[in-house]
Amino acid sequence: MINQSSILTDTFGRKHSYLRISLTEKCNLRCTYCMPADGVLLTPKNQLMTADEIFSIAEIFVNQGVTKIRLTGGEPLVRKDFSEISTQLAQLKVDLSLTTNGILIDKYLPVLKQNGIKSINLSLDTLQEEKFKTITLRNQFQKVKENLYLLINEGFNIKVNVVLIKGFNDNEIIDFIKLTQDLPITIRFIEFMPFSGNKWDTTKVVSYKEIVEQAETHFGINQIQKLPNEANFTARNFKVHHFKGNFGIISSITNPFCDSCNRIRLTADGKIKNCLFSNKENDLLTQFREGKSIEPIIAKTMQSKLQKRAGMNTHEEMNNPQNHFDNRSMIAIGG
Ligand code: SAM
Ligand code: SF4
Repeated sequence: MINQSSILTDTFGRKHSYLRISLTEKCNLRCTYCMPADGVLLTPKNQLMTADEIFSIAEIFVNQGVTKIRLTGGEPLVRKDFSEISTQLAQLKVDLSLTTNGILIDKYLPVLKQNGIKSINLSLDTLQEEKFKTITLRNQFQKVKENLYLLINEGFNIKVNVVLIKGFNDNEIIDFIKLTQDLPITIRFIEFMPFSGNKWDTTKVVSYKEIVEQAETHFGINQIQKLPNEANFTARNFKVHHFKGNFGIISSITNPFCDSCNRIRLTADGKIKNCLFSNKENDLLTQFREGKSIEPIIAKTMQSKLQKRAGMNTHEEMNNPQNHFDNRSMIAIGG
């Protein structure tokens, strides 16, 4: 018998109140760390959640205790019915947020405002136009930059996600932190993570320690203030004294944060995942379409969540690319 009030609590006592919904496996960029160079096999449209299904499934999670929903992908804004989806979800009275590459932000600004989406994570891995093209295989740097400033000027709460890759953009760490001198944003450096087809290996990871050392060397150790960790944090945050914004480090590889994890993932094809690093997925959509209750599958998924990084407890296990090959690419999971 499942205790309904606790189906989102796992065997380690972690309460999962944050649902990340991937709206699509498609994207208008081709970031090489996120997807294989030859693309991903797209799920046929009739096997993807419709707007109504997204709403109904999300509502079930909210009834079970979810208070925060983030829309992601692929690129969530390439989904043609994004307005409809976000308008429906806004009725759920959850904290609704978005992760985007920023390209279509100007088009959707009124929809975001209307639906109370105030917190936006915008991905931008470099401040150099040519490098942007190298990493995303598209020429959209100026558009993303314009839309970043548009969001800031419109008063949105902005976190800029920067995936660091050794030898590629780790020489821009200081430039990114300098942006926070006058802009009220948080720059979040993300350690490069392994997924199917993204050519990951440990030598490409820029570690938490290296990022902090670079910042301390440049700004002076006494100028860097460590901020308290937020509840259910992923980023460990810092501030350079008198700067308007902050910077943070998401160190899933060298310094994970599994103890306070409260995240559940729902893929665009309606599969639930209890951990980003787990290759196990459980199908909610088929059960839902058959008119059956999905709560038992949600409960089973949460009960099987392992303590740390889907069971990869040691650095050796985590650093072995073989252990990540059968997990889907980030673009298909929903980051
Ligand atoms: N398209 C949107 C975007 O780029 O923000 C949302 C989806 S994207 C998969 C979500 C986040 O995952 C982005 O910030 C992206 O940088 C991050 N990401 C993708 N692949 C990654 C990897 N291999 N390691 C670390 N972060 C990754
Ligand atoms: Fe697209 Fe985002 Fe992945 Fe880049 S990181 S390919 S923008 S989904």
